Amino acid sequence: VQFSDLGLSQPVLQALDLQGYTTPTPIQAQAIPPVLEGRDLMGIAQTGTGKTAAFMLPSIDRLRAADNQTPFKSCRMLILAPTRELAGQIAQSAKDYGALAGLKVHSIVGGTSVNKDRNKLHRGTDILVATPGRLLDLIDQKAIGLGSVEILILDEADQMLDLGFIHALRKISELVPKERQTLFFSATMPKAIKELVGKYCRNPVQVSV
Ligand code: AMP
Repeated sequence: VQFSDLGLSQPVLQALDLQGYTTPTPIQAQAIPPVLEGRDLMGIAQTGTGKTAAFMLPSIDRLRAADNQTPFKSCRMLILAPTRELAGQIAQSAKDYGALAGLKVHSIVGGTSVNKDRNKLHRGTDILVATPGRLLDLIDQKAIGLGSVEILILDEADQMLDLGFIHALRKISELVPKERQTLFFSATMPKAIKELVGKYCRNPVQVSV
Protein backbone atom coordinates (compact mmCIF):
# COMPACT_ATOMS: atom_id res chain seq x y z
CA VAL A 1 0.00 0.00 0.00
CA GLN A 2 1.16 3.54 -0.82
CA PHE A 3 -0.01 6.80 0.74
CA SER A 4 -1.48 7.71 -2.65
CA ASP A 5 -3.83 4.68 -2.44
CA LEU A 6 -5.53 5.89 0.73
CA GLY A 7 -7.55 8.82 -0.65
CA LEU A 8 -5.45 11.69 0.73
CA SER A 9 -5.36 15.03 -1.10
CA GLN A 10 -2.49 16.30 -3.22
CA PRO A 11 -1.29 18.93 -0.69
CA VAL A 12 -1.09 16.32 2.07
CA LEU A 13 0.69 13.87 -0.23
CA GLN A 14 3.18 16.63 -1.08
CA ALA A 15 3.79 17.33 2.60
CA LEU A 16 4.45 13.61 3.11
CA ASP A 17 6.88 13.69 0.24
CA LEU A 18 8.75 16.56 1.87
CA GLN A 19 8.94 14.53 5.09
CA GLY A 20 10.41 11.66 3.08
CA TYR A 21 7.68 9.18 4.07
CA THR A 22 6.81 6.76 1.30
CA THR A 23 4.95 3.86 2.87
CA PRO A 24 2.15 4.09 5.44
CA THR A 25 2.62 2.22 8.72
CA PRO A 26 -0.08 -0.38 9.58
CA ILE A 27 -2.07 2.01 11.77
CA GLN A 28 -1.95 4.65 9.03
CA ALA A 29 -3.13 2.18 6.38
CA GLN A 30 -6.02 1.07 8.62
CA ALA A 31 -7.07 4.42 10.04
CA ILE A 32 -6.77 6.89 7.16
CA PRO A 33 -9.57 5.60 4.84
CA PRO A 34 -12.36 5.44 7.49
CA VAL A 35 -11.34 8.80 8.98
CA LEU A 36 -11.51 10.39 5.52
CA GLU A 37 -15.06 9.01 5.25
CA GLY A 38 -15.97 10.82 8.45
CA ARG A 39 -16.18 7.77 10.71
CA ASP A 40 -15.30 7.87 14.40
CA LEU A 41 -12.26 5.79 15.27
CA MET A 42 -10.95 3.96 18.27
CA GLY A 43 -7.29 3.07 17.89
CA ILE A 44 -5.26 0.88 20.22
CA ALA A 45 -1.69 1.86 19.46
CA GLN A 46 1.56 2.69 21.21
CA THR A 47 3.84 5.61 20.52
CA GLY A 48 6.23 4.84 17.67
CA THR A 49 3.60 3.23 15.47
CA GLY A 50 2.99 6.36 13.42
CA LYS A 51 -0.34 7.12 15.13
CA THR A 52 0.18 10.89 15.04
CA ALA A 53 0.20 10.98 11.24
CA ALA A 54 -2.60 8.36 11.24
CA PHE A 55 -4.97 10.90 12.79
CA MET A 56 -3.39 14.13 11.54
CA LEU A 57 -3.32 13.49 7.79
CA PRO A 58 -6.98 12.54 7.21
CA SER A 59 -8.22 15.14 9.74
CA ILE A 60 -6.40 17.90 7.90
CA ASP A 61 -8.04 16.76 4.67
CA ARG A 62 -11.47 16.77 6.34
CA LEU A 63 -10.90 20.34 7.56
CA ARG A 64 -9.74 21.42 4.12
CA ALA A 65 -12.79 19.87 2.48
CA ALA A 66 -15.26 21.45 4.93
CA ASP A 67 -13.49 24.82 4.52
CA ASN A 68 -15.41 26.55 7.32
CA GLN A 69 -14.38 29.87 8.82
CA THR A 70 -12.70 29.70 12.21
CA PRO A 71 -14.54 32.15 14.48
CA PHE A 72 -12.67 34.18 17.10
CA LYS A 73 -11.84 32.37 20.34
CA SER A 74 -12.54 28.96 18.89
CA CYS A 75 -11.01 26.05 16.99
CA ARG A 76 -12.16 23.54 14.37
CA MET A 77 -9.97 20.63 15.39
CA LEU A 78 -9.12 19.95 19.03
CA ILE A 79 -6.42 17.48 20.02
CA LEU A 80 -6.11 16.52 23.68
CA ALA A 81 -2.83 15.08 24.94
CA PRO A 82 -1.62 14.13 28.44
CA THR A 83 1.69 15.99 28.57
CA ARG A 84 3.46 19.10 27.36
CA GLU A 85 6.00 16.98 25.51
CA LEU A 86 3.41 15.03 23.57
CA ALA A 87 1.36 18.17 22.84
CA GLY A 88 4.51 19.78 21.44
CA GLN A 89 5.21 16.83 19.15
CA ILE A 90 1.62 16.76 17.92
CA ALA A 91 1.63 20.52 17.27
CA GLN A 92 4.84 20.15 15.26
CA SER A 93 3.25 17.40 13.20
CA ALA A 94 0.15 19.57 12.63
CA LYS A 95 2.42 22.36 11.40
CA ASP A 96 4.38 20.01 9.12
CA TYR A 97 1.24 18.80 7.36
CA GLY A 98 -1.15 21.69 7.88
CA ALA A 99 1.08 24.53 6.65
CA LEU A 100 0.64 23.60 3.00
CA ALA A 101 -3.10 23.58 3.55
CA GLY A 102 -2.92 27.04 5.15
CA LEU A 103 -4.19 25.88 8.54
CA LYS A 104 -3.30 27.75 11.72
CA VAL A 105 -1.97 25.66 14.60
CA HIS A 106 -1.61 26.56 18.28
CA SER A 107 -0.86 24.61 21.40
CA ILE A 108 -1.76 25.43 25.00
CA VAL A 109 -0.17 23.53 27.88
CA GLY A 110 0.33 23.99 31.60
CA GLY A 111 3.38 25.73 32.99
CA THR A 112 3.42 28.60 30.47
CA SER A 113 1.90 32.10 30.47
CA VAL A 114 -1.91 32.03 30.44
CA ASN A 115 -1.94 35.60 29.10
CA LYS A 116 0.07 34.57 26.05
CA ASP A 117 -2.41 31.75 25.48
CA ARG A 118 -5.33 34.17 25.70
CA ASN A 119 -3.73 36.43 23.11
CA LYS A 120 -2.93 33.71 20.64
CA LEU A 121 -6.43 32.24 20.87
CA HIS A 122 -8.18 35.56 20.39
CA ARG A 123 -8.47 35.26 16.60
CA GLY A 124 -9.22 31.55 16.78
CA THR A 125 -7.11 28.74 15.42
CA ASP A 126 -7.90 25.93 13.01
CA ILE A 127 -6.03 23.31 15.01
CA LEU A 128 -5.62 23.48 18.78
CA VAL A 129 -3.44 21.02 20.70
CA ALA A 130 -4.07 21.16 24.45
CA THR A 131 -3.56 19.44 27.74
CA PRO A 132 -6.98 19.05 29.44
CA GLY A 133 -6.28 21.14 32.56
CA ARG A 134 -5.01 24.22 30.74
CA LEU A 135 -7.83 23.96 28.23
CA LEU A 136 -10.46 24.03 30.99
CA ASP A 137 -8.72 27.03 32.61
CA LEU A 138 -8.96 28.94 29.36
CA ILE A 139 -12.57 27.90 28.84
CA ASP A 140 -13.40 29.16 32.35
CA GLN A 141 -11.75 32.47 31.47
CA LYS A 142 -13.79 32.64 28.25
CA ALA A 143 -10.59 32.74 26.22
CA ILE A 144 -11.75 29.79 24.10
CA GLY A 145 -15.03 28.02 23.39
CA LEU A 146 -15.53 24.54 21.93
CA GLY A 147 -18.75 25.21 20.00
CA SER A 148 -17.02 25.09 16.59
CA VAL A 149 -15.12 21.83 17.06
CA GLU A 150 -15.61 19.62 13.99
CA ILE A 151 -12.99 17.02 14.85
CA LEU A 152 -11.99 15.97 18.36
CA ILE A 153 -8.95 13.77 18.96
CA LEU A 154 -7.90 12.20 22.24
CA ASP A 155 -4.32 10.91 22.18
CA GLU A 156 -2.97 8.57 24.86
CA ALA A 157 -6.29 8.56 26.68
CA ASP A 158 -5.06 5.99 29.23
CA GLN A 159 -2.23 8.36 30.17
CA MET A 160 -4.71 11.21 30.60
CA LEU A 161 -6.70 9.07 33.04
CA ASP A 162 -3.54 8.09 34.92
CA LEU A 163 -2.71 11.77 35.30
CA GLY A 164 -6.11 12.45 36.87
CA PHE A 165 -7.82 14.15 33.95
CA ILE A 166 -11.06 12.13 34.13
CA HIS A 167 -13.20 15.05 35.33
CA ALA A 168 -11.67 17.37 32.77
CA LEU A 169 -12.39 14.84 30.03
CA ARG A 170 -16.00 14.37 31.13
CA LYS A 171 -16.50 18.14 31.19
CA ILE A 172 -14.91 18.63 27.77
CA SER A 173 -17.17 15.92 26.31
CA GLU A 174 -20.16 18.04 27.34
CA LEU A 175 -18.81 21.23 25.77
CA VAL A 176 -18.09 19.98 22.24
CA PRO A 177 -20.89 19.85 19.62
CA LYS A 178 -22.78 16.57 19.35
CA GLU A 179 -22.30 16.60 15.58
CA ARG A 180 -18.59 16.05 15.21
CA GLN A 181 -16.02 13.40 14.40
CA THR A 182 -14.06 11.81 17.25
CA LEU A 183 -10.79 9.88 17.06
CA PHE A 184 -9.79 8.15 20.27
CA PHE A 185 -6.35 6.64 20.87
CA SER A 186 -5.09 4.65 23.80
CA ALA A 187 -2.27 2.16 24.32
CA THR A 188 -4.42 0.05 26.64
CA MET A 189 -8.16 -0.62 26.94
CA PRO A 190 -9.15 -0.96 30.63
CA LYS A 191 -12.81 -0.59 31.68
CA ALA A 192 -12.55 3.14 32.41
CA ILE A 193 -11.25 3.74 28.91
CA LYS A 194 -14.05 1.69 27.34
CA GLU A 195 -16.55 3.86 29.22
CA LEU A 196 -14.90 7.00 27.90
CA VAL A 197 -14.98 5.63 24.36
CA GLY A 198 -18.72 5.09 24.83
CA LYS A 199 -19.10 8.69 25.97
CA TYR A 200 -17.06 10.18 23.17
CA CYS A 201 -17.49 8.00 20.08
CA ARG A 202 -20.40 7.00 17.87
CA ASN A 203 -20.09 3.53 16.38
CA PRO A 204 -16.30 3.82 16.06
CA VAL A 205 -14.21 1.81 13.62
CA GLN A 206 -11.73 -0.11 15.75
CA VAL A 207 -8.12 -0.46 14.72
CA SER A 208 -5.40 -2.14 16.68
CA VAL A 209 -1.71 -2.54 15.95
P1 AMP B 1 4.34 8.36 16.38
O1 AMP B 1 3.95 6.93 16.68
O2 AMP B 1 3.23 9.13 15.77
O3 AMP B 1 4.96 9.03 17.57
O4 AMP B 1 5.47 8.31 15.22
C1 AMP B 1 6.70 7.68 15.43
C2 AMP B 1 7.79 8.16 14.46
O5 AMP B 1 7.61 7.58 13.17
C3 AMP B 1 7.83 9.64 14.25
O6 AMP B 1 9.16 10.08 14.37
C4 AMP B 1 7.33 9.86 12.84
O7 AMP B 1 7.95 10.98 12.27
C5 AMP B 1 7.71 8.57 12.15
N1 AMP B 1 6.78 8.16 11.09
C6 AMP B 1 5.42 8.23 11.14
N2 AMP B 1 4.88 7.73 10.01
C7 AMP B 1 5.88 7.31 9.23
C8 AMP B 1 5.95 6.67 7.92
N3 AMP B 1 4.85 6.38 7.24
N4 AMP B 1 7.17 6.39 7.43
C9 AMP B 1 8.27 6.67 8.15
N5 AMP B 1 8.29 7.26 9.36
C10 AMP B 1 7.11 7.58 9.92
